[in-house]
Amino acid sequence: MSVENSSAPNFLYNQIREELEQAGGGTIVTRFPPEPNGFLHIGHAKSIWVNFGLAEHFGGKCNLRFDDTNPEKEDQRFIDAIKEDITWLGYQWNGEERYASSYFEQLYAWAQYLVREGKAYVDDLDAETMREYRGTLTEPGRNSPYRDRSVEENLDLLERMRVGEFPEGAKVLRAKINMASPNINLRDPVLYRIRHADHHQAGDAWKIYPAYDFAHGQSDAIEGITHSICTLEFEDHRPLYNWFLDNLPVPARPRQIEFARMNINYTVTSKRKLKLLVDSGVVNGWDDPRMPTVAGLRRRGYTPASLRKLCEMTGVARSSGVVDIHMMYHAIRSDLEENALRAMCVMKPLKVVLTNLPEGHEEIIEVSSHPARDDMGTRKLPLTREIWIDQDDFMIDPPKKFFRLAPEKEVRLRNAYVIRCDEVITDDAGNPVELRCSVDLDTLGKMPEGRKVKGVIHWVSADHGVPVEVRNYDNLFLDEAPDRDKEKDFLEHLNPESLEVVQGVGEPSLADAAPETRFQFERIGYFCADRWDHGKDGKLVFNRTVSLKDGWAKAQKKG
Ligand code: ATP
Ligand code: MG
Repeated sequence: MSVENSSAPNFLYNQIREELEQAGGGTIVTRFPPEPNGFLHIGHAKSIWVNFGLAEHFGGKCNLRFDDTNPEKEDQRFIDAIKEDITWLGYQWNGEERYASSYFEQLYAWAQYLVREGKAYVDDLDAETMREYRGTLTEPGRNSPYRDRSVEENLDLLERMRVGEFPEGAKVLRAKINMASPNINLRDPVLYRIRHADHHQAGDAWKIYPAYDFAHGQSDAIEGITHSICTLEFEDHRPLYNWFLDNLPVPARPRQIEFARMNINYTVTSKRKLKLLVDSGVVNGWDDPRMPTVAGLRRRGYTPASLRKLCEMTGVARSSGVVDIHMMYHAIRSDLEENALRAMCVMKPLKVVLTNLPEGHEEIIEVSSHPARDDMGTRKLPLTREIWIDQDDFMIDPPKKFFRLAPEKEVRLRNAYVIRCDEVITDDAGNPVELRCSVDLDTLGKMPEGRKVKGVIHWVSADHGVPVEVRNYDNLFLDEAPDRDKEKDFLEHLNPESLEVVQGVGEPSLADAAPETRFQFERIGYFCADRWDHGKDGKLVFNRTVSLKDGWAKAQKKG
């Protein structure tokens, strides 16, 4: 897919536009309905972009509702993180955030309603037996022996379940639909389970909790959601959601439309697996910059605009596909190319003495902070007799096409002069530890007389450089589909080199970098000042967002 035609309207837009046209106008209400049991990941960002984007486009509203039916797995901390992430992505939900738990009374009343209508019953089968009775994809299920309890008995048992008279697992409330239905979701699904757990919002008011399927659609109806946009795995649940809408006195009838989940290669986006990475200490928390969480990507240096752009580039489809992670890199790279400050930073310092500059020499060279953006101002580079360059920019015995520094060769110091390497001082093992170079003082902003100097390298004043810790990140997984194999543990595909920490030296302008300031370290890549950490000896920490080379854009041009 090319970037140019990517913002073409997707099938959701088209479908809703047609509906609204047929209805002669009106608007829509959508919602983003996370379960607060983990941090949001890049797939959720897609869902947010879809739901808030549709509402915005049609002049409607988008609610934020926590589908909090599973108190043991949920946490206030996740609620806070989810709200922060959505705000950071640039979206504002309609009014206050909502909670399915606020509707527990209504949901319970509807459960009683179904019982009274003879459409729900309390079942005493244990989980194992109930599974056996459910049948399989090829065999119908069987009715539970408790299916024909009287309305009075069911109402009484349900109320006693609610107040905690029975232990967990002793009973459930089930809808009475059809145990022979080809759709297993309709084989008398569970509506309520006994759980003697406190709830982060509802406190200790309940000893039973509604199943997600019983809460989700009805919560949409209560909120007057017009379009329940969700991912394809809920397609099989739609008949059940519609059964609830048909059999309950709900105030509205949301329409469910499914689209394909966004999956990215070299990445897992399942909260269960992400939680495993956190709990096992493979990464340092949900917002580790290697995590595909919104908070992790933020810390890595991704911008909200780049994530929205990725959503736009990858579109909305009815069938699943896998997004190439290079597309994500491309989205952030093109943003930072335009908007990140430029700076020089030496990763592996090698000392260079500029022998024809006097001791104490200090020359300030003023250069722009971005080559194409006057509005971003300038920065001051002090040039002193001793500077650092990167070890990789020097070779004692270079191959032919090495245009950087070598004995008796010349190179340009970026934004400054041409220098020549006159002498190499090595350690006992023969590794260079210091270079003695002379400066051609007639080359500031111009070519040297009578010869061509091709190479340009970055450098930092040894007197004024700022010690920094640089964290270079790589993909967390070596396999492009780490969770493809059901038999094999996805953790076996971990990249042991997903994090490399180096102690570097940055130019002085980096000293005041506020958390989350983004830079292009010239010739290296894009980096972001960490939000939280300080490195060794209190150093500033910079996270590598992405390297400079754009594999994806190149492949697009060729293709
Ligand atoms: P996970 O499978 O990662 O645990 P989930 O679906 O259980 O995700 P929810 O908190 O229920 O997580 O998700 C909130 C919304 O985000 C749902 O509407 C869901 O369909 C959507 N969503 C989740 N993952 C993706 C994805 N990869 N692409 C697009 N939408 C997604
Ligand atoms: Mg879910």
